[in-house]
Amino acid sequence: MFALYVEARARTLVWDSICYHVFMSRIGITTTIPVEAVYAAGHVPVDLNNSFISSPDRQGLVEEAETVGFPANFCAWVKGIYGLLKTGRETVDAVVAVTQGDCSNAQALAESWQADGIEVIPFAYPYDKDPEQMALQVRRLAERLGAEPAAVERSFAELDEVRSKIWELDRLTWSDGRVSAAENHLFQVCCSDFEGDPQAFARKAEALLEEAKRRPPKTAQPKDPGIVRLGYIGVPPIAPEIYDFVESLGARVVFNEVQRQFTLPGGAPDLVGRYLQYTYPYSVFGRMEDIKRETKARGLHGIIHYVQSFCFRQVEDMIMRRYLQVPMLAVEMDQAVRLDQRTKTRLETFVQLLRGGEHCTL
Ligand code: SF4
Repeated sequence: MFALYVEARARTLVWDSICYHVFMSRIGITTTIPVEAVYAAGHVPVDLNNSFISSPDRQGLVEEAETVGFPANFCAWVKGIYGLLKTGRETVDAVVAVTQGDCSNAQALAESWQADGIEVIPFAYPYDKDPEQMALQVRRLAERLGAEPAAVERSFAELDEVRSKIWELDRLTWSDGRVSAAENHLFQVCCSDFEGDPQAFARKAEALLEEAKRRPPKTAQPKDPGIVRLGYIGVPPIAPEIYDFVESLGARVVFNEVQRQFTLPGGAPDLVGRYLQYTYPYSVFGRMEDIKRETKARGLHGIIHYVQSFCFRQVEDMIMRRYLQVPMLAVEMDQAVRLDQRTKTRLETFVQLLRGGEHCTL
């Protein structure tokens, strides 16, 4: 990491020079982190999850990890992103590993990368949401990457401009259905790294906003009985085809919980405050408050709770069912690259029951 730091310091001296790109590093991330620090240091963040899920050979990447020794009964997301770097389908100079607040497998994954000679930069969300600890973590991350504090603040303001476009896309999803659930998922989930180029990503979002304004509104209005309005909670799906399938049933996902959180919708004016409002890394009870609020505001008829096989977050399904007073369907997937027939049948049954006005939990 010292090399990265020296490069970043050197870059601040030649910021506008033609040599700038020589020092730029690709920083892998495995979840949302204060990405402002990465951009402020002049590096490019690469969300390995997005890279894995958009690979035409997801199955092959998972199998690569198993060939190396990852167990069959282990999360496919973890195996997929490990396989991504192992096979060289994605290349990075270092990876930021979130050792607290993301995944119980994060440490083992980080150590596997270290064993492969990949530099790992730790970052931890403080479980008790202590502002001083959070500020310390951001400062340490920025220092490791070689970013000046003022540059991190500037980056926060710039990225918030981009985020505001995605908030509008989200509004157009639930208020009048002009943005589809799949588009909503994709743009929100990409706010972890802004696809490595925030300005280009902003232009893509603007183009979709323009197009969406010309689309006729779909009947996804609150209180509209013609369409079943669903929420999707839990980690992003390993098979994003789920959105189009749900839509083919005459239902529509108008709330993507975790993906929306990647856009930092909390509203706090400062970086530390905003990352403390981000619900995903902390207690499940904070997430439930957010889900309850959005369930009401978006007029949801039911919720799909996606759980990944062998993920510790499956336990949260039990707690969610206990506290969320809304019909819920748990959908578990392992490493399928397509929706399996059993999941399709369960989704179909759930939508039918909701259309009949039944309060059900499957
Ligand atoms: S699905 Fe669960 S186990 Fe897998 S990477 Fe995400 S948090 Fe970790």
